[in-house]
Amino acid sequence: MNMDRRGFLLAGLGGSALAAQKQDAAPLLDRGFARVTQIAPGVYGTIAEASKGLQCGSNGGVIAGRNAVLIVEGHMQPAGAALEIEVARMVSKAPVRGAVNTHFHYDHTFGNFGYAEQHISILAHEKVAPLMKEQYAAVKSADKAPLLAPLEKKIAQTGDPTGKKHKEDDLQMMKRMYEAIEATTLAYPTEPLAPAQLPKRIDLGGLTALLEFLPAHTSTDLIIRVPERNIVFTGDLLFYKSYPVTIDADMMAWREVLERFARYSRHTQFIPGHGPVCGMETVRDQSDLFDDLRKHAEEMIRAGASAEEAERRYVVPARFRDYRIAYWGFRVGAAMRSYYARLGP
Ligand SMILES: [Zn+2]
Repeated sequence: MNMDRRGFLLAGLGGSALAAQKQDAAPLLDRGFARVTQIAPGVYGTIAEASKGLQCGSNGGVIAGRNAVLIVEGHMQPAGAALEIEVARMVSKAPVRGAVNTHFHYDHTFGNFGYAEQHISILAHEKVAPLMKEQYAAVKSADKAPLLAPLEKKIAQTGDPTGKKHKEDDLQMMKRMYEAIEATTLAYPTEPLAPAQLPKRIDLGGLTALLEFLPAHTSTDLIIRVPERNIVFTGDLLFYKSYPVTIDADMMAWREVLERFARYSRHTQFIPGHGPVCGMETVRDQSDLFDDLRKHAEEMIRAGASAEEAERRYVVPARFRDYRIAYWGFRVGAAMRSYYARLGP
């Protein structure tokens, strides 16, 4: 195919149209709780459907080169890891190099036991294991009542019905997380990566997995790029039509990560942590949403309002009205605290 014709075809099939077309393609596997499709030759995306089960709980995938296969994501339950192993075996006879955890959050690591059982190496940033121990192992089989008490007290003290509802949602979220902690058998990364080892290039044979350290959603974020295919597994650094979960975030560092994504080829396909495969328009939407959150934080700081008041007074703009925003405190509240830490008095 000559370049003109190729250019013409690429122009006609923008990144998003291409992404939509791929998603409509017949899936390799459809388990209800997740659907696996080929995104490009050798690259498979696992899109989780939480409403049908939390086995995956987050997206992931498989990158299959000639000589080795790399799995993306630890998922929420071992059944999610088992699905990725099954996909790896279906699409390739090459050995599995390992599975990457994009960050320490439980919906991306609690399935690790499925890899450990199969003696599959688990790669992650070196702080993933210590943070899993601190935030999850330390509270396992502990009495949760004292941990929930501060938020329960706040709910009791909150007068306005909207604020009360937001905090009640946050409490449900915490309870669900504690249930997941009780149910899981924790398995820690076996191949911790120090910042000096990153970015890490893994040659899979004809395909490269490039692991890059971009701390922003948490202090442990890795993205996995496949440069030959213009594909990026972003973990939770990109949310699709959703307010981001910001509980461990540095919002200003995150905005710079979005700038970095915006400089990739316009044909890039992103596999976000949750939601469908998407393109550059999602990076733009997410950037605008961050700018709106920051603008609100700055206005509140100028007005002398506290971070808590900024959380309470944030109004979802019409443009983002259909965005997912459950667990207000984990999204809006934590974002305000992050901005206040950097910009506040
Ligand atoms: Zn996360």
